[in-house]
Order: sequence, then C-alpha cells, then structure tokens
Amino acid sequence: MSREPKIRYAPKSADGERRWCNKCGRMMLVPDEIKPLGRRCFACQAETKDEYWKSYYAENRQKQLDYQAAYREAHREEINAYQREYAARHREEAREKARQWYYANRERHKARTAAYRQANPERQAEWVRRWYANKLRTKAGRLSYLEDSRMRSRLNAERNGRELTPVPLDEYRERYGGDNHHVQVPLAPLLPYVKAAYEELGSVELARLAGTSDKRVMEMIRGDRDEISLPVADALCTHFELPFSWLYQDVA
Ligand SMILES: [Zn+2]
Repeated sequence: MSREPKIRYAPKSADGERRWCNKCGRMMLVPDEIKPLGRRCFACQAETKDEYWKSYYAENRQKQLDYQAAYREAHREEINAYQREYAARHREEAREKARQWYYANRERHKARTAAYRQANPERQAEWVRRWYANKLRTKAGRLSYLEDSRMRSRLNAERNGRELTPVPLDEYRERYGGDNHHVQVPLAPLLPYVKAAYEELGSVELARLAGTSDKRVMEMIRGDRDEISLPVADALCTHFELPFSWLYQDVA
C-alpha cells in the first residue's frame, strides 16, 4: 500500500531545486517530493511508515486485543453507561436513518427478511410468540387483538364461502370484550337495514341485538350519527346476515 505523498509546503514554481533521497537515491524536487531539509523523499517516508505499521500490527495484534479486552472488562459499567447515554441521545436520529434506509431498500429488505425467516423457522416462531405475548399484555392490546381476530375469522369465512355463524351478544362480549368501541365505521351502508329493523322490532330490542343503547339507536334513526363503532356494526351485520366486507370494504 503506497500513499500519495502529502505536500506540506506551498509548491514553489519551477525554480528546479532538487535534493538527494537517502533511501531510494533519486534526485527529488523540493518541496513537492522532498522537504527542503529532508533526508528521505515523501514516497520513501510513506513506504517506511506502511512497512512499520504492517509489521507492528502483525506482531502486536494479540497484545493489543488482550489489552482492549482487559480495558473493557475493567470499565464495563462505565462503557455500558456511556453506550446507553449515547443511544438515548441519538435515538431519533437512528430511527430516522433506519426509516430512510427501509424506504430506500424496501424490496431488498423484504427479500432478505423472508430468506431469514425461511432459514430460521424456530427463531421466527420465537419472535411471533414474543410479539403476541407483548401485544396481549395490556388490556387495550388484548381487546384490539381479539377484535382483529374476530374480523379475520369473519373475512376468512366470507372468502371461503363458509356460513357465518352469528355469535350471541353475551358470548361476543365474553369473547371479544365489551369496551372495544374505539374504531368507528360509517353508518350509511347499514342505515336502511337499521331503519327496517327499527320499524319491525323497536329501538329497545334493536339496541339489545346491536349491543348498544336505546339512546344510540335513536340517534342513528334520527340521523344524528353518521358513524358507529366496529363491534356494533359487526353485531348488526351478523344479525342481518350481511357480509361485513361487502358493507365496509375500506375497513376490512
Ligand atoms: Zn526516496
């Protein structure tokens, strides 16, 4: 490995001064190739340096590695604290970088992760197990998981042409929880059915079927509401035997 010699002096225009290099024995141009008082030319200096570091590293590598390992062992707490602090200080930056990398290399990333998953099935299984354990740890996570699984089973049944078995409301609540009403879907596709059912059954009975209150049903009928919660829409679709995906394609 030979480096371009560094020029430390402003090159003089062609006054033609030359010096003898003690190592390679050639006449070198001052100051471009040799220092005004230098004994060796820059090329020879760089070469000597390279030789020195090459042999130094080969001879002292193990010593240096041992020294580094001992240092790390002695200062472990300090190093860990610094790393934690550094990571905290650069977290946003690192995330942003990762995000940008992901969007720039999405296809490559997908192919790579798919290959990894295929090559490491037991690691993938462990990852999935941990993902679910983490999701089910909080109540909100558990409810959203149940809601998702309910929707998935429904959509799968529709896709595969299986018959939808309506789940009775109390069982629905027991299985999927009663307070996961945070996702809202438009009422408009269901409104004609709701109105017809209201004519037939009355608001109290309809509210019982839909798992909502009398007041809410009256708001729907009067047109005060243009959205309803996902579980209510689900219960109504089940009762009217309507395909949920057909009514709410953008949600499903
Ligand atoms: Zn030389």
